[in-house]
Amino acid sequence: SIQDDYEHPFAFYDDEMGRKHIRDRMMENEFEKAIRNEEFVVYLQPKYNVVTEEIAGAEALVRWRKKDGSMVSPGEFIPLYEKDGLIVRLDEYVFQKVCEIQKNHMETGGKLLPISVNLSRASIHYENMILRYVRIVEERGIPFSAVPIELTETAALYNVQIRELTEKMVHAGFELHMDDFGSGYSSMTSLNQLPFDTLKLDKSLIDYIENTRGMEVIRHTIALAHSLGMQVLAEGVETAGQVALLRELDCDEIQGFYYSRPVPWEEFVDRFMKKSDK
Ligand code: C2E
Ligand code: MG
Ligand code: MG
Ligand code: MG
Repeated sequence: SIQDDYEHPFAFYDDEMGRKHIRDRMMENEFEKAIRNEEFVVYLQPKYNVVTEEIAGAEALVRWRKKDGSMVSPGEFIPLYEKDGLIVRLDEYVFQKVCEIQKNHMETGGKLLPISVNLSRASIHYENMILRYVRIVEERGIPFSAVPIELTETAALYNVQIRELTEKMVHAGFELHMDDFGSGYSSMTSLNQLPFDTLKLDKSLIDYIENTRGMEVIRHTIALAHSLGMQVLAEGVETAGQVALLRELDCDEIQGFYYSRPVPWEEFVDRFMKKSDK
């Protein structure tokens, strides 16, 4: 009751804060250990060219492989890490791993296959982010085009700060992909004002491609993106029927279980990045 709350107005608050503090510290400790033991592993999901049906690149998706062998999907830990800021370190860790994969690949003389990396909103707002990421790329001697950066539609919702940040990233050399477009408040201002070179159509749009209205939305979104000079990739493609329609609608690339699930990066390198594949 109100009366009870007023009796110990601060006791409850302190207790909550204390608990949150302990929870945060535990998570931080667990995170440090997981990083040290290399429990965060990079999976790669291939992207295919719609016309040639050849592999066009991949997306890096992190998984947590715990010591007991169990796998935790990013949907379970990334929202938590976004709240407490640890995501900034995880994103940089994944980015570094992917740059390392690309460096080794280049040294074996393989052709360039871009591997995009996801960055959370907190990561792009982190001070010195651009300098740190530029250094990671340059120290490995790989081109920026080897590691495009994906920002979700929500992280890229238009405002002046986002515009300045994304312009700085592009100026530094990065390629930007807008992730999950169509999943939320898809904003025309973001399309119009932000320097993205690829639009990733969210699975929730693709799910309705066989519906007349769903198809028209996709058709016109693809045409709009193209007229703005952007490439279009469809995410979450699961059936041959969807592939056929996307080809008809002039989509450029496809990513989804129809072609392949995300696979451990070592397997991806074996299957797609060996020199003999050229
Ligand atoms: P996302 O970037 O939109 O990645 C696509 C998600 O869709 C992946 O889930 C992928 O496994 C899944 N997917 C791909 N094709 C299909 C399909 O045909 N059908 C279905 N049902 N799903 C498909 P995943 O790997 O669980 O990742 C979930 C989200 O976690 C990602 O969404 C991304 O936002 C985030 N994430 C993953 N790795 C990182 C990371 O290193 N940093 C950050 N900040 N976020 C990450
Ligand atoms: Mg993504
Ligand atoms: Mg996505
Ligand atoms: Mg997503």
